[in-house]
Amino acid sequence: MTVVKEIQAKTLLTGTAHPDTLFGCRYNMNLYRGCEHRCIYCDSRSECYEIEHFDEEVLVKVNAIDLLRDELSRKRIKGPISLGSMNDPFMPLEAEINLAGRALAVIAEFGFPIHIITKSALVLKDLDTLREIARTYASVSFTITTTDDDLAAKVEPGASRPSARLRAMRVLADNGIQTGTTMMPILPFIEDSEENLEAVVSRTAAAGGSYIIPWIGMTTRDRQRAYFYARLDEHFPGIRRKYERTFGDRYECESPVARRLWPFFEDACRRHGVATHIPLYTPQAVKQLRLF
Ligand code: SF4
Repeated sequence: MTVVKEIQAKTLLTGTAHPDTLFGCRYNMNLYRGCEHRCIYCDSRSECYEIEHFDEEVLVKVNAIDLLRDELSRKRIKGPISLGSMNDPFMPLEAEINLAGRALAVIAEFGFPIHIITKSALVLKDLDTLREIARTYASVSFTITTTDDDLAAKVEPGASRPSARLRAMRVLADNGIQTGTTMMPILPFIEDSEENLEAVVSRTAAAGGSYIIPWIGMTTRDRQRAYFYARLDEHFPGIRRKYERTFGDRYECESPVARRLWPFFEDACRRHGVATHIPLYTPQAVKQLRLF
């Protein structure tokens, strides 16, 4: 069982000089440390992040809302804020404490755009706030590495099943909120098949998703790799040896069949009318200038 502890954070938003091209975000926000979803491949277990008990406890930044209000009031550039890089803001705990919900309300009040990345259907609890933010820009990306609920139960044990994520995607799309899929990681030797990629693309399209942010591979390092390999031994006997032989100590582990799968993926997106990148936020001033 996950232990929940409260902490005081010194700052909340981190920023970059320019929005990143993959996710389109200028600021990043983490409301928690640790994540109840416990995906077996999670990079947040890496030593560099210094989260010592990632799978046992979640730290809640109890002063996050005050910090957010203060920091947003001092930002001169209204760039997109990303939620969901180091933990999932809609993990089960959120249903009880509503920290992401309260943060979204502050973001709506200050008129900032957002990009949420989640594996949780719980995001729907904030539908009204998302509709309000969408007047500026809101995109919700559901990470879907497989559409197979049984496989997802092994690789993403604490998260909503992919079928529930896709149903939530449908609700968002029906409410006019930009939504799509973050198709990463794709686990080599487990998820890197034409059948899986076709299912991710076709079911994204059927759920009203307009884009997929793809990568056909994963990253591994230090204790994240050790944890992942232990889970491979548990759920996928024999696969660990393939990883060791193919990737050694490498950080970037692209699927050995990625070169064959990329054109297949791009063709699937064309067939189903799904973009292979997220439509990015365009500031209102720029939109208006284009009218002249
Ligand atoms: S949802 Fe994201 S942050 Fe949470 S365990 Fe899974 S990969 Fe890690």
